Amino acid sequence: MPIEDVLQKADEAGLRLVRFLWCGNDGTVRAKASSRHGLEGRLRAGIGLTVAMQAMNSLDQLQPVEGMGPVGEVRLVPDPDTFRVLPYAPAAGAVLVDHLGLDGEPARVCQRSFLKRQAARLAERDVVLEASFENEFTLSVQDESGGFRPVDESLCFSTIGMTASQEYVEALADALERQEIELEQYYAELGHGQQEISTGHAPALRAADEQILVRETIRGVAAQMGYVASLAPKPWPEAAGNGGHIHFSLWSKDGSRNLFHDASRVDRLSGEGRGFIAGVLAHLPGLCGLAAPSFNSYHRIVPQYWAGAFTAWGHDNREAPLRVPSVFAGMEEASTNAELKAADATCNPYLAVGGLIAAGLDGLEHGLEPPEPVEVDPVTIPDAEREARGIHRLPATQEEALDALEADAVLTTALGPVLTDSYLAVRRSEWSAYSLQDPEFEQRGHFLKY
Ligand code: GLU
Ligand code: MG
Repeated sequence: MPIEDVLQKADEAGLRLVRFLWCGNDGTVRAKASSRHGLEGRLRAGIGLTVAMQAMNSLDQLQPVEGMGPVGEVRLVPDPDTFRVLPYAPAAGAVLVDHLGLDGEPARVCQRSFLKRQAARLAERDVVLEASFENEFTLSVQDESGGFRPVDESLCFSTIGMTASQEYVEALADALERQEIELEQYYAELGHGQQEISTGHAPALRAADEQILVRETIRGVAAQMGYVASLAPKPWPEAAGNGGHIHFSLWSKDGSRNLFHDASRVDRLSGEGRGFIAGVLAHLPGLCGLAAPSFNSYHRIVPQYWAGAFTAWGHDNREAPLRVPSVFAGMEEASTNAELKAADATCNPYLAVGGLIAAGLDGLEHGLEPPEPVEVDPVTIPDAEREARGIHRLPATQEEALDALEADAVLTTALGPVLTDSYLAVRRSEWSAYSLQDPEFEQRGHFLKY
């Protein structure tokens, strides 16, 4: 969208402020906003930001990272195509930004540029990754003591749960539609106050941009109505976790063919689909460090909570972190896809989707074949047999996931040293900080920030 069109739309909507949104190494969404006055210049040249922000963790503790101290600036330069009028904030709009150096080139820490680089690698093969996010989240009210209480105690898919949240969900659906984000399904999920929405698939970069807008919308609409919505992976110990599952498939550049689809195979999964999945599976422990990257994430990824806790793939298997869903009659090609369940909304979506592409591409480049699919709950397979089949426990803590990421040369090479080092420093500092604290500190820390 040309900048002139952004300005015209901003005026038509009577905007006073436009938020320049970014998601950092800590997975939180932050922004600086431009007033309408001066917006044109800022849309072109960006807004200045200290280089230190990418060394900040989700507790606002600045980490010692080379080149990310008090001296130095980057520019937050918007992608005008991402402009939206925000339905949940008065006279406000938003754009997603790239981090550019003062030379106008992408800063080496820029996560959005990392995803563009991975998408470009696919483009060299004339393919596009289509992705969509399924966000589970908790709708709650804050009580006088400052604690959070779920809005209902309803059953899984319960219509009583639907009724309890219907006004919120109607406002959420309306806010998504106004931002041209396609809502696919909604239901009241298993946990108390737990909701789930799925949104339409889009090419990788747009899917990641929209994930940030969706997270903002889920929380923004809730705040307007006096609720607190949280996408924290494990909102309460023992309660159902909030996944941020990522569905994905590879398409021809012109969008006419789903390359994951092969009508001649029983499960419809093509050789290309199998190779890509094999790559994702081979890099899954390291990928967890990007897709399920928080301290709280590992209280969700435990066996028998349907989050997928072992290195396994399977058909319609909700205990497999990589699930190949059965196709829909009459929509066989369009519905052939795979789902990464070992992902949650505390991830930086550019890093998660970019890491997914790097892992899948490794499978394609090396002609990998996936192992036998696992068609039972992996925890029910005897230990010795599980090990013999190469089915291992996924990282059990944030620390283990980050170690796996550091040890994964395919992922760290794709990220580059600046992004790898700053990311690991930020996320490891969260591990250090939360490890010293009690469960209540962990709960509040994640509940309020994601
Ligand atoms: N809540 C589960 C999770 O933590 C997912 C349940 C499902 O939709 O399969 O990922
Ligand atoms: Mg669900």
